[in-house]
Amino acid sequence: MRGYPDIAALDVRLPNGLWLDEQCLQTAGLRPPTGYDEAHLLALKGCVSPARWTSEVLARCVTHIGTLHPVSLEDVQSLTVGDREALLLHLRRLSFGETLSCMSDCSACGEKLSIDLQISQLLLPQTKNPAYWYRAGLPGSKVQATFRLPTGADQEAIAELAAQDPSAAAGMLMKACLHSLTDGDVQLEILPEDAVGDLAKLIAERDPQAELILNSACPECGHQFDVLLDVGTFFAEEINHRLPYLYREVHLMAWHYHWSESEILSMTRSHRRIYLDLLDETLREATP
Ligand SMILES: [Zn+2]
Repeated sequence: MRGYPDIAALDVRLPNGLWLDEQCLQTAGLRPPTGYDEAHLLALKGCVSPARWTSEVLARCVTHIGTLHPVSLEDVQSLTVGDREALLLHLRRLSFGETLSCMSDCSACGEKLSIDLQISQLLLPQTKNPAYWYRAGLPGSKVQATFRLPTGADQEAIAELAAQDPSAAAGMLMKACLHSLTDGDVQLEILPEDAVGDLAKLIAERDPQAELILNSACPECGHQFDVLLDVGTFFAEEINHRLPYLYREVHLMAWHYHWSESEILSMTRSHRRIYLDLLDETLREATP
């Protein structure tokens, strides 16, 4: 028996794109995770930051970025945060389907809310004029900033600090993304503390896919509030939740089909599902 590595593989558009030799590569290929990928990701549980987890899953499942093939861990770390979020959404759709069912607490009355989201509604359009360096004025001043968008590598670099001191981590991230600041002809040496938020805003406007904030209303008390959707953490939890089932599936299929563990783990989840459903049907028919 052979695995079908191309089952449900997909070409997708990146909102920003990866710059390589002055060219912006704005498409990527994705394949769904195999059982091996799931086992690898499960082993990372609790050991790596969410940003690193995202890099690991993308390095495994992104097959090409534009003309770039194969794709390394470093390549997916170089993608912007928004591109990585878009890839995670596509990958989640390939693995578990279109609808995300999230739970949230109403911040006014504490009521538990279940929110169903469609991935197609969360994917934002591509940037019209993508650039590696952007130049824009900081609001309320004559200072012009030249900056790039944060990448996965940036997120990984600040992950530890972010857990202890989020505002210090935000400052570090902004410094990493800033190329230069000019006030007229004068080159400023450092980013003023109070300009960190302004720069973050300029970046957020240019990479809206990086942070998915959903407006929600509580059906109980009518309170309206924002929910931040962290796709990486959501997807990681879905995969982690499957640990007991993954080896159960291997056991069942090895038992009935006599395929080896490595053959079964090379299959994607939906591919395994086909045989498990057939087995279930056959075993039901066989039981009086
Ligand atoms: Zn409420």
